Amino acid sequence: MAHIDPTPKLDFDDVLIRPKRSTLSSRAEVDITRSYQFPHNNHIWTGIPIVASNMDTVATFEMATVLQEHQMLTCIHKHYNMDDWKTQASKLLPDHVAVTIGSSKQDFELLKNISQVRPITFICLDIANGYSEHFLDAVKRVRQAFGNSILIAGNVVTREMTEALIIAGADIVKVGIGSGSACITRRVAGVGMPQLSAIIECSDAAHGLGGHVMSDGGCRNPGDVAKALAAGADFVMLGGMLAGHDESGGEIIERNGKKYREYYGMSSHTAMQRHSGGKSDYRASEGKRVELPYRGAVKDTLQEIMGGVRSACTYVGARRLKDLPKCTTFFMVNRQTNDVYSRFDAGN
Ligand code: 5GP
Repeated sequence: MAHIDPTPKLDFDDVLIRPKRSTLSSRAEVDITRSYQFPHNNHIWTGIPIVASNMDTVATFEMATVLQEHQMLTCIHKHYNMDDWKTQASKLLPDHVAVTIGSSKQDFELLKNISQVRPITFICLDIANGYSEHFLDAVKRVRQAFGNSILIAGNVVTREMTEALIIAGADIVKVGIGSGSACITRRVAGVGMPQLSAIIECSDAAHGLGGHVMSDGGCRNPGDVAKALAAGADFVMLGGMLAGHDESGGEIIERNGKKYREYYGMSSHTAMQRHSGGKSDYRASEGKRVELPYRGAVKDTLQEIMGGVRSACTYVGARRLKDLPKCTTFFMVNRQTNDVYSRFDAGN
């Protein structure tokens, strides 16, 4: 017999942050850097916990160059080869880039080879289904081989698997299934968890063990980033919000005098065609490809995101980003915004 969990599971759209009396008079007074210690190594990381997603349309070396200027992190996508790392990554700071791998032998070899030419602080072990037994083995293997690295592993959306990953050797658990803007897993497989509740549940589990969570997917605007951080995410990973820029990947398309840049899911037909010569018969595509209006330099988008997070902190009286979750009460709502003039939007 199937079971039903009757407790409501919420997404970013289901809540708003309740404003509170605050002694802060300006957003400039808010400190949005965080310092973290980790359960499996002795690093102390300080930075702004915004992360570029390990997708080839997002996490390029060019993206990492700009994000590190803002003390943010880029999980470099796994489709660069050794030559690319040798020739293009020399100016990237180990504390602001993660090397991404899947569970394959080739990826592990590449990781080892990269570690011969540069120090590796962060490793991102990314598997679409973080619930498979072999994933825990992969986490243990990487932990054993790279004892002092900060290991990010995912994706999962529930308490028990968050705990299992941290016990197996992960420092940061990546949280999110089905929430991504280029993802169709919920449509194809019917699997997933609304992102805000996933963050609340997994962060509680991770923090109990001295670990951290990285909310991954579903942020469409700076308000969603603020909600993710307020819900307990230690890091927020972004795909679509950082796609479509000068520094992103993906083809640039010119049509009717307008410029677009493609963004596609890593398990879309497009990605599988580009990186593995097509899709195996037993797999369904679980990602889509979109063409986004070209958005120029990513630094302007980063400023908007940081401005939004600072503003949220000011509204609830959190002088430091660290204080945001404990200063936050969420209202459950059934309408987010007043869209009466959305057809006449002229920018801002
Ligand atoms: P976004 O920030 O665009 O909402 O979500 C980005 C996240 O979507 C990625 O970091 C990754 O976790 C997820 N994602 C990327 N490609 C795919 C895909 O093809 N299928 C699925 N199910 N998720 C994807």
